[in-house]
Amino acid sequence: MEKALVVLSGGQDSTTCLYWAIDKFGHENIDTITFDYGQRHSIELESAVKVAEVAHVPNIIVPINTFGFLGGNSLADSDIEVKNELDENTNLPNTFVPGRNLIFMTFAAAYAYQKGIKHLVTGVAQTDYSGYPDCRDETMKALANSINLGMEAEFELHTPLMFMSKAETVELAQKCGAMDALAWSHTCYNGKFPPCGECPACQLREAGFKDAGVLDPIFLRGK
Ligand code: ZN
Repeated sequence: MEKALVVLSGGQDSTTCLYWAIDKFGHENIDTITFDYGQRHSIELESAVKVAEVAHVPNIIVPINTFGFLGGNSLADSDIEVKNELDENTNLPNTFVPGRNLIFMTFAAAYAYQKGIKHLVTGVAQTDYSGYPDCRDETMKALANSINLGMEAEFELHTPLMFMSKAETVELAQKCGAMDALAWSHTCYNGKFPPCGECPACQLREAGFKDAGVLDPIFLRGK
């Protein structure tokens, strides 16, 4: 069986993708990579480590603090407050980190290249989300093409959640056995546990579980 590398942020989607990948490629063929990009809250990194631990898969944390250095958005610059409304010029929320997924996937591919891993898995989705342009199917397809050309490689880039609603993502998580690990995943933009319930990320997560008619296991953490 071929090997797969999952980009694991510690959030709901990447945790679900990890279990999707375990199901598809076999537990022993899974590796995970997490990027420390100077995100607002270290709780995200702690979640990624914990999720990998619960899933019994290897995890490497790669430091890339350049986004914090560039600043200009609320996820990588803690001086900027997370806002719910869209920026009037870009029509994007100020949580948008320009180029983030492009860089992540390129570094993930560079790592996979060294390790002889052929499949790359990411939890990006273009439906039901904040409209981040680097999460679009078209972006990911073009990126996979660039990476394969630029590295003379034949990576397959998997985006199992691309066209799913949040409720469908919850159903997939149930099917793949991701619920125990999801208890340790982190979503809140305010870095809160228990989740603040008020930021856009919390609200999106809450709506997804509600639509699927499932209790979010985050509320069962440690119980
Ligand atoms: Zn929140």
